[in-house]
Amino acid sequence: MRFKYSKPGIDIIPETLERTKQDKALLHGQMTAISHLKKQPLRNCCILCHDSLEQAALFTHRQLAYYLCCRCHHIQSQHIPSEAYPTDTPAGLSFLDVYPKLNTEQFVFRQNRIYKPKYDWIRESLIEFGINEKEIQQKSFLELGAGAGYFLATLKDAGIKHFKGIEQNNFLCNIGNAHLGGNYIQHHQETLSSAIVCHEAQIYIAFFVLEHIQDVKDFFKKLSLAKKGTILVFSVPVFSFATLLESAFEFHAGRNLDNAFHVQLYTDDSIAYALNMAGFSIINQWLFGQDMSDLQRLLTVQLNNRYPPYLEKMMQAKLSAMQDSLQSHIDYAQFCDSRHLICIKEK
Ligand SMILES: [Zn+2]
Repeated sequence: MRFKYSKPGIDIIPETLERTKQDKALLHGQMTAISHLKKQPLRNCCILCHDSLEQAALFTHRQLAYYLCCRCHHIQSQHIPSEAYPTDTPAGLSFLDVYPKLNTEQFVFRQNRIYKPKYDWIRESLIEFGINEKEIQQKSFLELGAGAGYFLATLKDAGIKHFKGIEQNNFLCNIGNAHLGGNYIQHHQETLSSAIVCHEAQIYIAFFVLEHIQDVKDFFKKLSLAKKGTILVFSVPVFSFATLLESAFEFHAGRNLDNAFHVQLYTDDSIAYALNMAGFSIINQWLFGQDMSDLQRLLTVQLNNRYPPYLEKMMQAKLSAMQDSLQSHIDYAQFCDSRHLICIKEK
């Protein structure tokens, strides 16, 4: 297995600034959401390995209880969220608040900043693994949770012939298909496991999707039926430095284990457990995170109006200047907030 570490934080500055602006409202929504979740039924078995949680360790994160499964080390809320959680809560948090509608120029800007580097990394890794450029271009891609189609647009630009996506949110499907100029993203309301069965592909992509699903075990079991040589590329948030910041300080809105969109969290062990169940091996891992950006946001929110403008300006400049170098230490220690993985079915 190969590793790649870090990336410049500059490519996510617009999203970070937006998040800082919305911080108070998001935090309020997250706190309202947990009072709703706490009324839901208790979980008996692990969402990933289905083992009983009777012996599992319990801990509290921002006033919400979580289990750490003692078999697979997957982290999950003690209460089972409803299918629509957190959008069915009084605060009505929705994905659209996180992903605002963009015009063509903004769409391409976001695509090139965030999604093109992901494709470049996949392409380079596969070539290094022995799959040549022509073979990559002829493979069929399916993106699970394609959102507004940024990654599919990158595949189209890269000359990939066969690609499509599925997405639960019809609004995002329409935005994506309009930008892509065709019906590439299908509205999919069933489980993600059913998508694997209905839409066969040679390369499955799932960026920040698998932490949202309830049928985790079924999903990896279905993948175990995929043909030898099938490739799975996915990213998930993990227990990290960002999780600690959220647990130790409750001034800023959560992002990593936010008790709203994220009520389960992978660990390196639970990722290994899932891949073993599916019969996939990791070819390459890219480790980077936004942990330091969270630290800056937390300090900005907490110290707002505390200092005269001269000191405030110095604080922001110094924190920004430190961000990438400190984040790279977290990345190399493998304690950053997410994992990007390229995996292959070996048998
Ligand atoms: Zn488990």
